[in-house]
Amino acid sequence: MRRVSVFGATGSIGQNTLDLIKRAPDAYQVVALSGAGNITQLAQDAQDLNAEIALTARDDLYDDLKSALAGTGIEVAAGQVALNDAACRPADWVMSAIIGAAGLQPGLLALQNGADLALANKESMVTAGRLMRETAQNAGRKILPVDSEHSAVFQALLGEDLSAVERVIITASGGAFLGWPIEKLADVTPQQAATHPNWDMGTRITIDSASMFNKALEVIEAKEFFDFRPSQIEVLIHPQSMIHALVGFTDGALMAHIGPPDMRHAIGFALHYPNRAPLPVERLDLRKIGQFTFQDPDEVRHPALRLARTVMETGGLSGAVFNAAKEIALDGFLGRQIGFLDMADVVETVMDRLLGCADINAAQTLDNVLAMDHLARQEARSVIARKPI
Ligand code: NDP
Ligand code: MG
Repeated sequence: MRRVSVFGATGSIGQNTLDLIKRAPDAYQVVALSGAGNITQLAQDAQDLNAEIALTARDDLYDDLKSALAGTGIEVAAGQVALNDAACRPADWVMSAIIGAAGLQPGLLALQNGADLALANKESMVTAGRLMRETAQNAGRKILPVDSEHSAVFQALLGEDLSAVERVIITASGGAFLGWPIEKLADVTPQQAATHPNWDMGTRITIDSASMFNKALEVIEAKEFFDFRPSQIEVLIHPQSMIHALVGFTDGALMAHIGPPDMRHAIGFALHYPNRAPLPVERLDLRKIGQFTFQDPDEVRHPALRLARTVMETGGLSGAVFNAAKEIALDGFLGRQIGFLDMADVVETVMDRLLGCADINAAQTLDNVLAMDHLARQEARSVIARKPI
């Protein structure tokens, strides 16, 4: 039996992961399941899967989780330290599906303690890509991409020589407001932005899709994951969300990964790697689909993509600045303190202030990444408080 843990088990990726695990319960021993606010779901899944330990990131919900699992024999814990401890428990495979920079530390610890890491938490690669890769290398473990685009690139590269790669095309759906005039975007609500045309995902990533911050994070993630040059990475809007990425080789061949917009494909690929196993995803009928369309993204409309290029050129701790400022700007938009288009202004203002500082090129240690993350959050909060920006 493979020992597996799922961090962020109550979220969109976490639930899709548990769906696959529940279909083959005899194949897995579930070690740790973590959540934050959704105690009912967490307790139910911990019981269904007979997990060793269930954890909530929220200290204030410890008693609720404890009473929900009373008499089951399942261990219960709460808080960041407990999450980190649980990530150190022996496991063969760990899913990193916490949202935001909070997912970085458990993933690093899981790698250090001998697990292969299925990485949905793109923030880990954006804030600390080099650290993640070095940690995996030193531990002799693998990081398996779960973001659909990166899983697609990973699959297109199997058996290929990386030096024969000319370019990589990451596709984007365009999000909730594709085709809307830019004047209308200033007044859109979080609820409107949280509606995705194709993918069923968590609220935060869905809004990031509409603002293109998700794609900006993914461009940086692609560079960090595969060591591509920034100039090799292109973004193309593909509203059908069925071609997830394409890899172009020096002989002109373009290898595309095509599949339905269902995260269980990328999760299942990472779960069964290096094998392919049958997965419960829709088989596409290309006759019915008829056509795939593509268009260039508009970087004036979506400054996030331009900012991602600056991050890739700057390197060092600039990814931590970009991600932290984006997380706080998104909080500001969700709390109706700033508008949809203000999010990019907040991030750019924070980058202007911090990317020139001497510390930006400090070594990518966990402490340095967390310190820069903290600083950027403070800056972003003060930028929002001093609106209009
Ligand atoms: P969700 O918001 O649906 O789920 C997030 C998970 O993290 C939940 O289990 C949540 O607990 C938990 N959580 C929230 N805040 C904290 C915290 N501070 N500390 C610890 N745990 C916390 O997110 P998604 O599943 O959509 O996304 C997860 C990750 O995967 C993100 O990095 C995202 O970018 C990436 N990803 C997601 C895709 C998708 O299809 N959803 C596609 C590609 C990548 P609770 O719900 O109990 O409060
Ligand atoms: Mg993606």
